[in-house]
Amino acid sequence: MRTLPGVDRVLLAVQRLSSDHWPLALVTDEIQQQISALRARLLNKELTRVPDLDALARAVLIRLDQIQSPSLRPVINASGILLHTNLGRAPLAKEAMQQIQQVAAGYSNLEIDLTTGRRGSRHSHVERLLCRLSGAEAAMVVNNNAGAVLLALTALAKGREAIVSRGELVEIGGSFRIPEVMEAGGVQLREVGSSNRTHLQDYRQAINAESALLLKVHTSNYKIIGFTSSVPAADLVPLARETGIPLLEDLGSGLLRPLPGYALPEEPTISEAVASGVDLLTCSGDKLLGGPQAGLIFGRRELIEKLRSHPLARALRIDKLSLAALEATLRLYLTGRESQIPLLAFFAASSQELLERTRELQRQLDLPGLKLEIVDAAAMVGGGAMPEAELPGPALAIQPEALSLDQLAAALRAAEPALVARIHDERLLLNLRSVDPTDDQLIVAIFKSLFRPDPASGTGA
Ligand SMILES: *Cc1c(COP(=O)(O)O)cnc(C)c1O
Repeated sequence: MRTLPGVDRVLLAVQRLSSDHWPLALVTDEIQQQISALRARLLNKELTRVPDLDALARAVLIRLDQIQSPSLRPVINASGILLHTNLGRAPLAKEAMQQIQQVAAGYSNLEIDLTTGRRGSRHSHVERLLCRLSGAEAAMVVNNNAGAVLLALTALAKGREAIVSRGELVEIGGSFRIPEVMEAGGVQLREVGSSNRTHLQDYRQAINAESALLLKVHTSNYKIIGFTSSVPAADLVPLARETGIPLLEDLGSGLLRPLPGYALPEEPTISEAVASGVDLLTCSGDKLLGGPQAGLIFGRRELIEKLRSHPLARALRIDKLSLAALEATLRLYLTGRESQIPLLAFFAASSQELLERTRELQRQLDLPGLKLEIVDAAAMVGGGAMPEAELPGPALAIQPEALSLDQLAAALRAAEPALVARIHDERLLLNLRSVDPTDDQLIVAIFKSLFRPDPASGTGA
């Protein structure tokens, strides 16, 4: 223990080995952490002698290099799950990226009306687009759909009751559960019906002087099958009109147009939902819409105004970068260029196209140490949307000879950019449906860097 060097000596060694100018406090902090880690390992008898000064200094320099490199970095998603929540959901269209860049680098008219010079509203940049695309009277955006639901519940029903079917008390994941969101918003939950069946009559009977809201939640991430019955939002509209109690629908995935490509499960579009007469509607921007994280709210002007002027709206407001990306994405829809949205292009890709790309990948990955085969492997929508939908297509199944599948998957995740694949049936599957075609060559480069034939031994890996 006494042979452990002091911070000063390691610092001198670090300064001798590197000419980089790191802040002194940062370097000393790293050195102290290294020394205490060493002390712990010596005490645990994991180490028997203290490494020399240079080795210690090099370990500190490696850590400092890690601090330099971004933690959040690009991933090629070959998992075949299009809206992978852990991989950031929808990739953005080029125009959305360009608009972010233009707005991010300098000042913008985020909240100023450039014709009058007066204060404006950040919602103004997308409201007209949202209304045109949906047919709604008014619209606004917040940080995400969870925020949109929380805002609507709080602004319209705080201290009072919201009526919701027992079959729709959903959990979205990451602890977003409808009953808990209601609690957070100070809204009393009035459950009606049963898990599998709820009727219009159940809603009607639950209405009392404390009722402030009728709530419909799209059960986007699961399906109740068998003896079931639920009341479509459209059937609740007359009840809402008759009683004057607003009807709020959480659509989950916001679909602006029917999806291209395969026969997918019926999912109501935003304009269909608006046309049904629902008073207020919320959905995500980064699910089926294919835009940035955002919570879109559509509905009657009077209710939207109420939400906008609520104090929570400020806490949940969308940031300018997401707003820029959302505006550009919506414009693509409005001008009939939504095929430029990566997510929609992924849906639209034909099995034949994917097969050709997968064959080309197979040809280029014919490296020593890898067994390759093309198999059928359906892609999934993911992100809690359309849980049963399968998008048919091929995948390249890979069996490494000298590595375990977990080792291969880990090596791919460690690559630059990282590559995420799926392990299934003792094989690693690369599904190109969720990969931009221009990234196919990057996949080849990643594998070549891992399995470059070694001229000395003639074997790979
Ligand atoms: C995904 C989802 C949410 C949460 O949306 P975020 O944009 O992730 O906050 C809320 N409700 C439903 C029904 C959903 O599917």
